[in-house]
Amino acid sequence: MNTVESLRALIGESAVLDATDTATRSAGVWRGDNLQAAALARPATTAEVAKVLGWCHANRIGVVTQGGLTGLVHGGDATPEQVIISLERMRDIEEIDSLQRTATVQAGVVLQTLQEAVEEHHLMFPLDLGARGTATIGGNAATNAGGNRVIRYGMMRDMVLGLEAVMADGTVVSSMNQLIKNNTGYDLRQLFIGSEGTLGVITRLVLRLREQPVTRNMAFVGLDSFDNVAAFLRHMDRALGGTLSAFEAMWRDFYCLVTSPPAKGKPPISQEYPFYVLVESQGADAELDTLRFNNAMESAYDSGLIVDAAISQSETDCHHFWELRDDVEQALNGGIPVIFDISLPIAEMDSYTAALGQSLDAAIGKHRLFIFGHLGDGNLHVAVQVQAEDYMRLRPLIEKQVYAPLAGFQGSVSAEHGIGLEKKPWLHISRSENELALMRSLKDALDPRGILNPGKVL
Ligand code: ZN
Repeated sequence: MNTVESLRALIGESAVLDATDTATRSAGVWRGDNLQAAALARPATTAEVAKVLGWCHANRIGVVTQGGLTGLVHGGDATPEQVIISLERMRDIEEIDSLQRTATVQAGVVLQTLQEAVEEHHLMFPLDLGARGTATIGGNAATNAGGNRVIRYGMMRDMVLGLEAVMADGTVVSSMNQLIKNNTGYDLRQLFIGSEGTLGVITRLVLRLREQPVTRNMAFVGLDSFDNVAAFLRHMDRALGGTLSAFEAMWRDFYCLVTSPPAKGKPPISQEYPFYVLVESQGADAELDTLRFNNAMESAYDSGLIVDAAISQSETDCHHFWELRDDVEQALNGGIPVIFDISLPIAEMDSYTAALGQSLDAAIGKHRLFIFGHLGDGNLHVAVQVQAEDYMRLRPLIEKQVYAPLAGFQGSVSAEHGIGLEKKPWLHISRSENELALMRSLKDALDPRGILNPGKVL
């Protein structure tokens, strides 16, 4: 029996697509190409995932697990001889426990579906990112997703209390812990979170929920120096007493890009400042939260930290402010962007970004540079736009200018997007030889035949 027939015998005829049917599916929401694989298996239970993996292990066939295909680093790419496991039939929200404040879900649940389901219990699952309508919880965990509220709630790895995973040989390890405190030896869930499908396949998760905030105050702020951006972050965090929920920075070129035609957005404040910040506070008391937010803004203005601000008067304003920040697609106007996701200490950001502009001028000549990101987390997104015909030639030169200087202050080549295939050549900038050796020995121990997402990360 061939691969397709063998897998069909294990989990059912309609649960396995052959190579031809697989090739009719898109390879991802950002991409123009289609999937390629020997077969695409759609197991409906953990036991079926275990059967597929057991067979692939015995036959030494590579397995790529896919969620919503919204990744940006080619972590879910498959080759024609590999088997894809899609968790699209594992979409049950098994339980929402409002006393324990946990949700128990299957890995294929879409992020937004979970966000909306827990809202009915006046709870919140705080992970939030642009791809919420497509990305899956399993994919969020496998890639340790970040997003807009990390400053308050942490990354995906801070929201997972327990999980169930299937090992390379089909062994099921169920570690469905519901407790916040459980200090009983090695933290097995963290082995799988952020491992991008290279150490096991996550099938079910226990997630930590938070109380749903009921108020929101936001401001779009103009600042005249980076030092003031950094000081404004501390000022707001201190003044808001724990309710700061987002602190997004935009350099002037990005702000002008998303507030000028052909972008639909209109500038809430003048386009003349070198730096902009979108600051958000979420709380539970409509009157007091607004008072506290406005007082914090006022004292920032009075002390000269900020020079201009538009303060939200309604939820519509808040929505409009976020739309500007999220309109990253504008970087596609007039060229093709090479997009980066890096972390560095706040103290290094100003000199790093200034030097980057100069080194790009010298290395590639004419380009446009857009910088924005989750500054409160030390995470910047950098988009270097070049002409389409120069893209392939310039891309390696651009990568070198962006990544190489990070080594000097232990910055990260991937803040929240992961490594996949795309950042593998640069991993050594952020990880030492000994760290990489330990990662390799974990990989060898958990996946001795190297069938799990072959060639990714390491
Ligand atoms: Zn981001």
